[in-house]
Amino acid sequence: MHKFERSESLKRLPEQFFARLAQQVQELKSQGYDLINLGQGNPDLPTPGHIVDELKKSADNPLYHKYSPFTGYRFLKEAVAEFYKREHDVDLDPDTEVAVLFGAKTGLVEISECLLNAGDVALLPDPGYPDYMSGIALANADTALMPLLEENDFLPDYGKINAETLDRAKLLFLNYPNNPTSATASSSFFDETVDVAKKHNICVVHDFAYGAIGFDGEKPRSFLQSEGAKDVGVEMYTLSKTYNMAGWRVGFAVGNASVIESLNLIQDHLYVSLFGAIQQAAAKALTGDQSAVHDLVVTYEKRRDTFIGALNNIGWKVPSSKGTFFVWLPVPKGYTSEEFADLLLDKARVVTAPGNGFGASGEGYLRVGLLASEERLLEAVRRIDQLQLFD
Ligand code: PLP
Repeated sequence: MHKFERSESLKRLPEQFFARLAQQVQELKSQGYDLINLGQGNPDLPTPGHIVDELKKSADNPLYHKYSPFTGYRFLKEAVAEFYKREHDVDLDPDTEVAVLFGAKTGLVEISECLLNAGDVALLPDPGYPDYMSGIALANADTALMPLLEENDFLPDYGKINAETLDRAKLLFLNYPNNPTSATASSSFFDETVDVAKKHNICVVHDFAYGAIGFDGEKPRSFLQSEGAKDVGVEMYTLSKTYNMAGWRVGFAVGNASVIESLNLIQDHLYVSLFGAIQQAAAKALTGDQSAVHDLVVTYEKRRDTFIGALNNIGWKVPSSKGTFFVWLPVPKGYTSEEFADLLLDKARVVTAPGNGFGASGEGYLRVGLLASEERLLEAVRRIDQLQLFD
């Protein structure tokens, strides 16, 4: 077979750090080991029944067997506007301030294609969700990393970024509640972000994938709640986590109309919008009964309390999390993230994600997904306890 050479832009794509881990997990599973896999971010619970029923019902509609409107059905964009008003008291124009996406991941990669030229700078959280980097690499732009440190509540410190970098920057990626650190953002941080973005003419991309998952009675804040936010950026939302719909691939971008127009433009050339029946079910998810979302957050909060409580009981002193379904655990002294993740995999058959896979500032941490029952989470802690690593 002739091997065709990849384009330069594909060659620039960063290596998928977690591919090796996924392969290791697959091999151990096929050897029959009982692994407790807390290394991924794939929600374990099903989509609420009324949403699935809406899909089944609308799959019969012959209108949906045709091409959908290129930018999505208006009823879905209206549903998005209704959702934002109800949940965050943010007003959106469905025609100009909402773009329908094939999952947030698509928008997060496309946005670099939309706004960056070769040599431009994008500011990225470190640690951060790896796909931001993929879009930047395809656009042949440069990255400037913003360390997320515990002493700063895992928020970037804009004062530490030099003025020249800020002036060159065209995009700024943020994500709160945060994957992987599980931190949340305050309104004052978002207000400061608007000021910085205005001053340096930067487009803010707030990834709000975990926008529904906040604990201890704290509802996560939308970036668009900050005064002037729409002037300087967009927010990306997904149904994957809020409604356990990761396989359905529904997301949307909201906010700055010029950016929404650019996202719609690139999508005009890449796709026709989502299957109409999926759009109808997505609208039902956003505007229908929200009790399943409430129950989901209660479930994750209980899992968090059980897991963190049990770890502290065996002597692994770890802080609690504020949002997302992840916990960010400092590794014990004497181990790197990868060494400790390997130890837990080899000796306890517990899969975790080493923090350095999310960026250099993630070194010294493990990310654990609370995506298993409380019983399995306790079993994971029991296995870790048997290693006798803590006093
Ligand atoms: N952003 C963050 C921070 C995520 O963790 C994920 C999924 O894991 C996504 C975006 C992608 O979501 P979607 O399923 O909508 O592509």
